[in-house]
Amino acid sequence: MEKEVLISKIKEIVGKEHVVTETAALQDAAKDYIGYRQFQRHSGHNMVPLAACAVRPQNTEQVSAVLKLLNENRVAVTPRAGGSSVTKSIEPEEGGVILDCSDMRGILEINEQDLYVTARAGTPLDEMEKKLNEMGYTAGHFPQSLPLASLGGLVATRSIGQFSTLYGGIEDLLLGLEAVMPDGEIIRIKNVPRRSVGPDLRHLFLGSEGMTGYITEVTMKLFRYRPENRWLRAYGVKGMQTGLDLIQEIMQEGYKPAVVRLHDPVEVENVIKIDAPPDTALLLFIVEGPSRVVQATAEGIAEIAGRYHAMDLGAKPVEHWFKTRNDVCYTYIDQPVYYNLGAVVDTCEISANWSSIGKIYSAVRERMIREIDNLYLIGGHSSHSYTTGTNLYFEFAYIAKSHDPEAVEKEYFRVLSIIMEEVLRYGGSIAHHHGSGKYRTPWMPLEHGSSYGLLYKIKEALDPNGIMNKGVILVEK
Ligand SMILES: Cc1cc2nc3c(=O)[nH]c(=O)nc-3n(C[C@H](O)[C@H](O)[C@H](O)COP(=O)(O)OP(=O)(O)OC[C@H]3O[C@@H](n4cnc5c(N)ncnc54)[C@H](O)[C@@H]3O)c2cc1C
Repeated sequence: MEKEVLISKIKEIVGKEHVVTETAALQDAAKDYIGYRQFQRHSGHNMVPLAACAVRPQNTEQVSAVLKLLNENRVAVTPRAGGSSVTKSIEPEEGGVILDCSDMRGILEINEQDLYVTARAGTPLDEMEKKLNEMGYTAGHFPQSLPLASLGGLVATRSIGQFSTLYGGIEDLLLGLEAVMPDGEIIRIKNVPRRSVGPDLRHLFLGSEGMTGYITEVTMKLFRYRPENRWLRAYGVKGMQTGLDLIQEIMQEGYKPAVVRLHDPVEVENVIKIDAPPDTALLLFIVEGPSRVVQATAEGIAEIAGRYHAMDLGAKPVEHWFKTRNDVCYTYIDQPVYYNLGAVVDTCEISANWSSIGKIYSAVRERMIREIDNLYLIGGHSSHSYTTGTNLYFEFAYIAKSHDPEAVEKEYFRVLSIIMEEVLRYGGSIAHHHGSGKYRTPWMPLEHGSSYGLLYKIKEALDPNGIMNKGVILVEK
């Protein structure tokens, strides 16, 4: 179908005021925050393919009608919600359609007996959380992108929040959802505490990155909001491995603090900047919940910290982190400090079991320092812990050797591949919470191993025409 005919048919479905075709607006809708794209943009190069249009449906029926039309005409679709992607996951196909749910916003139900909230997929998380707090509840989900992200995108990326050690990731918080399949069929997965009725269909959408269907409504658990019952404490320990061992002990003893963070000495020196002896790693804890649970958990953590000869730094470093924790949403994005230095900067989050996480940390740092002669910084932190292991959130920066956009991309992947290779070598996972997007895809076959083929079978069954967000997770055959 001709581009103009397609656009006019879409306009008939959603209304012409909800279809965007201007180049600048289309570039804006496709703007992703992966480090090298930010660098290219700052150097005056926009290398992102241009969609034919961006469409903002107003309701589920319109999503269904648009998808049916696009599916019949085999037009590529890129779902979009808050647009805070850092993985190129919202970059469209040239001439394809961006399907943006940001007009589909608002809470539909807050159920105070069964403790859940249902909201439309384009509802900004911070808008929902504020409303819940006013009523004495929280959704327990606090990604750093809280001021930017919306529910549909959070589910589709399998997001995780800063209080995850208590509340879990979004996979632990999602009760049910409504979605539209690529052929326009509307499906709903109901809200119950647990079911034993076959495979859990929520997982066809959790972390799907828009490749299976389009999420239109989300139901999440609620918790009582008790910010007054919080215990905050920071500790300093010598070296990253001591900090990892200390967290392992806390998790395996069975304590459930809400926030558990370990910043390595590089971040302590360059990012957090507390006054501490060299090689100090910084631990930050927040415990919350019923006051008796808070007290017992705090006592347990303090006792374990004592066993590790950790330096008690009081509550101040945690208060500071808490106050500034999401500032990056306003300052880091497209901010010139690194670009003025000529540096490409990015982060990369991975996970592994306790037996290998420290080895990955050391191996990545060692190789980066040895192989990247223009390296500016390599450090990181752990921010989501489990009884079996934890994540590492590497932060890296290097001075770009060239401003040529293709050279910038090539150099970025050379640096990134060190992290990917070392994580895979030690049996970790190459993505803890940002997803594959359209840049970690080349490593996905190694990540999944013998189970990778199942993902193609799922894709083929749900999206036989392959219209939904091509390039995420699956290597094109
Ligand atoms: C400063 C910053 C901090 C961040 N911190 C965190 C963090 O703490 N934890 C974390 O997990 N992530 C974090 N991220 C990554 C990002 O915010 C998350 O991936 C978030 O879940 C994306 O939500 P979004 O609404 O912005 O989705 P978008 O960026 O719009 O889309 C993300 C993905 O979801 C798909 N999608 C969007 N809407 C739908 C829909 N309705 N149906 C189906 N698929 C859809 C898109 O196709 C894409 O693949 C951060 C990003 C930034 C820029």
